Amino acid sequence: MRKQIQQQIDRIKAAGATYVDARWYPVDEVNNLVMWNGNLKNADTTRESGMGVRVLYKGAWGFCASSDLSDIAVIFNQALDNARVAAERVTFPVHLAEKDIIQARFESPCQIDPFSISLSEKVAFMKKMDERLNQSGVEQRFATMTFMRKQIVFMDSEGSQIEKQITEVFAGMQVSGRDDQGMTQERSYRLNRQGDTRGWESINPQVFEENADRIVREMQQVVAAEDCPKEDRAVILLPGIMFLQTHETIGHALELDRILGYELAFAGGSFVTLADFGKLRYGSPKLTARADGTLINSPGSFGYDDDGVPAQNTVLIDKGILVGAITGRQMVEEANVKARRQIFNGSGGANRATSFYRVPIERMTNINIDPGEDGTLDDIVRNTEKGIILDGDRSWSIGSNREQFHFANEIGWLVEDGQVTKVVKNPTYKGSTVPFWNSLSAVGDRSTWSVQFVDNCGKGQPSQIMQLGHGVPVCRFDNVRIGE
Ligand SMILES: [Zn+2]
Repeated sequence: MRKQIQQQIDRIKAAGATYVDARWYPVDEVNNLVMWNGNLKNADTTRESGMGVRVLYKGAWGFCASSDLSDIAVIFNQALDNARVAAERVTFPVHLAEKDIIQARFESPCQIDPFSISLSEKVAFMKKMDERLNQSGVEQRFATMTFMRKQIVFMDSEGSQIEKQITEVFAGMQVSGRDDQGMTQERSYRLNRQGDTRGWESINPQVFEENADRIVREMQQVVAAEDCPKEDRAVILLPGIMFLQTHETIGHALELDRILGYELAFAGGSFVTLADFGKLRYGSPKLTARADGTLINSPGSFGYDDDGVPAQNTVLIDKGILVGAITGRQMVEEANVKARRQIFNGSGGANRATSFYRVPIERMTNINIDPGEDGTLDDIVRNTEKGIILDGDRSWSIGSNREQFHFANEIGWLVEDGQVTKVVKNPTYKGSTVPFWNSLSAVGDRSTWSVQFVDNCGKGQPSQIMQLGHGVPVCRFDNVRIGE
């Protein structure tokens, strides 16, 4: 097949294309299991294979994909035809940033292939967790597991050839009960980084048992708790909500295609403009954020993106100042031209497609916040006069340009004069992105930092669901409106 692909790439190049690439997926499998109150509600496996081809002709993209690989010339011809039609209407000719020519292989670390584990073993594990969650006051119990396996062969007309083998494991548990007003309260746990591999071995029964007991205990506390007060307080965000704050108000806001207006029709835009790079004080000097595709164990690490650019560790916000974005080969060139200055030096290696039949677009890798120098969670609490610790994401509402947000949490713990005093229910907080990040007053050390996985980031039209991670510490923000 590789030889056939190479022949087609050469043929289309000879027909006048300036660039051609193909992504061949011999295997793309997803296995999803859901257990609800001890009953297996879902156990499905989808399996796809096929090829997607991009052709650049006179500054315009053409794309075609098919699962029928009996005559791949058809796919290449259609991609070229599509590019020819698009070239008659192109408003800003595409120019790709330079990249190195690479022959490489990437395999996500995996000791035990989750697709080699029988359905009965997977269900037995979920059943065991379900029984552990089945305690007093728990009305509903959910356990979920998702396994993914992709093999991708990338080849382009510049001479790169990259093969990727990616395995992902996602899992979670949730319990809910009802408070004295009949309102549902819930607490959940999602598998996050466990060691340095990503296979079935990351389903560690002991970790799940400990977290099962913890979420039941905390849910019982929330059910019996008073409402969150409506007032201004310092908020101390644990990684279970800090990842979402980072995702929505740094990650999505700094996707370069959004900044250039390409996602306005569906995903939204960004309040960030090209003039802001190097100047905007996005957050307090305690904030350093990066797009790090090089973490060993995270779904945001994939070796090479779908432009064939190697994973990078790019600083987005340096001690509070906006300096970088989430970028691919096309958008950096367009942004530099439109800004009339060199903001970006090449692609950041973040162009990704969710499947062979979608085109790659700028996607988050691992959007992380560097650990800080304000100690452990206990240290931060001890130095907080009037605050609330928040965890878990129950609902989220975000401005389409990511300029403001409102999040509801699963649990809050009030902090008075450096002491945790009590649990409150229905906690929420809201703010405006830039003033909020500028109110960042404490960043926890490495003991508070963990990588949280996201398996359902949506973007693009047609829609593309993507997997990634966020390495985040505990952070405190001052004078935040809570409880409304
Ligand atoms: Zn997202």
